[in-house]
Amino acid sequence: MNSEFPPPLMVVIVGSGFAGIGMAIKLRQAGVNDFMILERAEGVGGTWRDNTYPGAGCDIPSPLYSFSFEPDFDWPRLFSAQADILRYQQHLVEKYRLKSQIRLNCEVKQANFDQTTALWTVQTSQGDLIRARVLVSATGQLNRPAYPKIPGLEAFQGQMFHSARWNHNYDLTGKRVGIIGTGASAIQFIPTVVAQADQVVLFQRTPPYILPKSDRAFTGRDRWLHHTFPVIRSLLRWRIYGSLELFGLAILKFRPLAAIVKEICLAHLWLRVRDPELRRKLTPTYPLGCKRFLVDSKFYPAVSQPNVQLVTAGIIQVGADDVQTDDGAKHRLDALIFGTGFAAQDFIAPMQIYGLKGQELNAVWREGASAYLGISVSSFPNFFMLYGPNTNLGHNSIIVMLESQIHYIMGAIATLQRSPDAFLDLKSEVQQRFNDRLQQSLHQTVWSGDCSSWYKNPNGKITNNWPGLATTYRNLTRNFDQQNYQLKLARSCLPSNILHDNVKFTI
Ligand code: NAP
Repeated sequence: MNSEFPPPLMVVIVGSGFAGIGMAIKLRQAGVNDFMILERAEGVGGTWRDNTYPGAGCDIPSPLYSFSFEPDFDWPRLFSAQADILRYQQHLVEKYRLKSQIRLNCEVKQANFDQTTALWTVQTSQGDLIRARVLVSATGQLNRPAYPKIPGLEAFQGQMFHSARWNHNYDLTGKRVGIIGTGASAIQFIPTVVAQADQVVLFQRTPPYILPKSDRAFTGRDRWLHHTFPVIRSLLRWRIYGSLELFGLAILKFRPLAAIVKEICLAHLWLRVRDPELRRKLTPTYPLGCKRFLVDSKFYPAVSQPNVQLVTAGIIQVGADDVQTDDGAKHRLDALIFGTGFAAQDFIAPMQIYGLKGQELNAVWREGASAYLGISVSSFPNFFMLYGPNTNLGHNSIIVMLESQIHYIMGAIATLQRSPDAFLDLKSEVQQRFNDRLQQSLHQTVWSGDCSSWYKNPNGKITNNWPGLATTYRNLTRNFDQQNYQLKLARSCLPSNILHDNVKFTI
C-alpha cells in the first residue's frame, strides 16, 4: 500500500444533486461514514441549483418529488418552485450533517480502477488524488446546457444566454427578445419574458402537448394535517404515484388511454388559445408521449399576448442583431434566450472513468451509453451510477427511480463490506442480455416513433429512457442480485501462482 495516500474511503460520490444527497443519507443511516461527495459547483442542488430561470419549477407534485424517507417539509404549493426544491435539498444536507463531507468547487477529472488494490483513484480539479473502494456517479442527465448550432450565432452582438445559465442582471424591459425552444424549461420562463419584454419572437420547431396544471397552495391547515397525521401525507404521495403510473400505462402500453390524454391536451389548447391560426401552429402532430408531455397553465395565455410572435419557419442564420428564417424573414432582436435543453446523452462526460484493462467509459459508450439497470457496467468494478442510461422516465418522479437505485447500490456496498479485499464486476453476458431485451422493449414504445427528443442519440438509439413503469424498475432493483456479478479478489490478495491476466479467481 502506498504510504503517501491517506486511508481509502469506502465511497466517493460525484455530484450533490438529489442523487448524491440521497446516496449520502442512506450511507449515513447504514453507519457507513467514510464517504465524500465531490461537487464541481459552488453549492449543492444539481439541476435545481443551476436552473434559476424565472418560473422554474417542477411539474411533478412535491409530495412525490421528494424522498419517501424525508416527507415532512413545509412545501408552500403542490407543485413547487425551484427555490423551494433547493431549500428542501439544503434542509437534507443540514439535517443529515452532510456539509463537512461535501467538497465544493471540486470537479472530478478522471477516475482509475486499480485491480491490485481494488481501489478507485479519483483525480480532482483541485489536484488531489482520492482513493475509495466504491465510486458512485450522481451527475444526472440534465447538467450540461446544449446550445443550438446555428450559422452566425457567434456574431450576434446582443445578449445571449441559456435557460440553465440565466442572466439575472439583464433587464428585459423594453427589449425585443428572441427565444429558441418550446420544451419544459422554455414554457416555464416564457410567461415572465412576455410580461417584461417589449416584443417576444418565439422560435418553435415542434409544439409540445400540454396538460393543464392543477396547482394549489398548501394551507396552514394542510400542513398541520400532514405533520400531525403522516398517513394523510402518505396517501397523497401514493395517490399521485398511482395516477402518474396510469399516465405511464397510457404512454407505454394502452394507446387508447393515450388518445384520451391527447384529447385533454387538445381541449386545453382549444380553450386557452382562441386564434385558429395560432392554435394550428401550437397543435402537435406526433404521437403523445414521443416527446415529454408537459404540465402547465401559463404558456398558452402568454403566447396569445399581442407582443408575441410565434415563428415556425426554420432558423437558417443569425446576424449581428437578427435571426433569419427560411421564409425569408429577418427578426431584429436585442437578446436571444436558449431554451434548447441539455447534452443529455453524454452521461458521465467530461469525466473520464478507466476500468479494467484501461478501458475508458466514454469510449466504450461511443455508439450510445448502456448499463445494467442503468447502474453497473461490466469491467468497471465497484462503479455505480445514479440516473444512469435508460433510467429516465417520461411519466413519473425521478426521485422514485433514484431511491430504487440507491437501495440497490447499498446492497452492493453491504456485500463489499462483508468481503473487504474484493470487488464486484458485472458479468458481461448479464449486461448484454439485459440490453438486448431493453432495446427490444424500447423499440415498441412511442419514443421510437417519428419525433426528435433528448431520449435518443444521433443514431436513433434510445439511451435515456426506461421502457416500463417505475414500479417494474422498483421490483427489479429490490435486492442486490450478487449472482449477476463476479466477486473477485484484489490482485494483491491473490496467491502469486494465479496472478495471471487470463485467470479469474472468483469467490
Ligand atoms: P428540451 O425538452 O430538450 O427542449 C428543447 C427545446 O429546444 C425544444 O423545443 C427543441 O425543439 C428546441 N430546440 C433545440 N435545438 C433547437 C434548434 N437548433 N433550433 C430550434 N429549436 C431547437 O429541453 P428543456 O426544455 O430544457 O427540458 C429538458 C428536460 O428537463 C425536460 O424534458 C424535463 O425532463 C426536464 N425539465 C423538467 C421540468 C419539470 O417541470 N419537471 C422543467 C424543466 C425541465 P424540438 O422539440 O423540435 O427538438
